[in-house]
Formats: sequence, C-alpha cells, structure tokens
Amino acid sequence: MKSMIKTAQGQIEVNTLGHAGILLTVDGKNIYFDPYSEAAQYKGMPIADVVLITHDHYDHYDIEALRHILNPNTIIIANADVARLTDVAHVMSYGDKIEVLGIEIEAVPAYNIEHRNDEGNHFHPRGVGNGYLLTVDGCTLYIAGDTENIPEMAALKGKVDVAFLPKNLPYTMSDEMWVDAVRMIEPRVVYPIHYFELDMESLKEALKDMSNIEIRK
Ligand code: ZN
Ligand code: ZN
Repeated sequence: MKSMIKTAQGQIEVNTLGHAGILLTVDGKNIYFDPYSEAAQYKGMPIADVVLITHDHYDHYDIEALRHILNPNTIIIANADVARLTDVAHVMSYGDKIEVLGIEIEAVPAYNIEHRNDEGNHFHPRGVGNGYLLTVDGCTLYIAGDTENIPEMAALKGKVDVAFLPKNLPYTMSDEMWVDAVRMIEPRVVYPIHYFELDMESLKEALKDMSNIEIRK
C-alpha cells in the first residue's frame, strides 16, 4: 500500500509490499527493505538503488525477489550472515553508521527476549539480525527487523518520525508487545509489518490516548 511522508525538503513515498517488504522512494532513489517474493510481485518493480536486508531468514533474504530489482549498481546492505550468502557492499552490525546516497544509516539491535523455538533458543538471538535507522531530509525512519519490544527501543523515544514494527507470533511481537513498542518509541507515524492477521481497529483502540501517533498500513 502506498502513502506519503512529509519531510523538511519534500516527501518520501512509502510502499508497504507485504510481510517485511518496504520500498521507500526519496529524491527519485528506490530503497528496498527485505523484499520477499511470496508477498508481492517483484517482476517489473523499479530497480533498487539500495537494498537493506535485516537477516538471512527466507522471508527477508529472498533471491527470487532480489533478482528482479538488482542491477550492477545496486548497493546491498546487510548483516554478516547475509554477507556469507551474497555480495554485500556494506556489512553492518549494531552501532555501525554509514552514509549512502546522502542517507545516513545506522544498524540497531533486533532480537527476541521472550519467544523461543522448540530447542529453547530465541528465534532471533541478540547480535545476529539488524534493525535500521535511516535519516533522510531531516526525517528519521526506523525499520525494526524481526524483533520484540526490546529495551533499546526506549532510547529511540522522540527521535523517530516513522516506525515500521513487526507483529506476528511466535517470531516477533504479539499485539500487546507491539503496542508497548509504539509507546516506547512514540513515532509520528507507525506501520505494522510482518503480520499474518491485522486488526487495525484494536491497535488504534489500544493507542487511543496517544493522539499524536498515526497508525497506517
Ligand atoms: Zn526472522
Ligand atoms: Zn521474519
């Protein structure tokens, strides 16, 4: 679904592409996150100037989606696990900062604190997958990656204009965890992503006292 975000210099076009897939278009540049071919038709979509991949799970690192949007000039940014699978221009881990095409990018933590697989391990252990903070035209966007409502989110309070936060069980957040994450971050606009089912009305109801936050999809 397409929507616009106003910035100091103009606007950013946001296309949520299903699951964790996002396309941001800024000053004619196409910046993709976690393109996933099961959730959208990537054939015929604009060529990527930059692709950011949060981690190597099949629903985030997907060669079938990537092959339609890459050209030799595309800059791929990812965590170390993805860099073992494909050519990556910038391998990032928590706290790393780079600037690409005039966009400041920082890798931030993304991990489970609660949900575990049958072997008792977190689906997303701390230190593996990334979230990303992007600052463009004075606007800061937070693409959270596969994460729960981790304590590091408290440091983002008041610093994020637009947040993309995952919800689905058991891999990321329950609705309650998602609402708690929104309250910790207090973004201007928030998009739920990565969901199997979505009850926008109940999320809005749970955040109705936060009238400064707009929930979009
Ligand atoms: Zn994952
Ligand atoms: Zn995932």
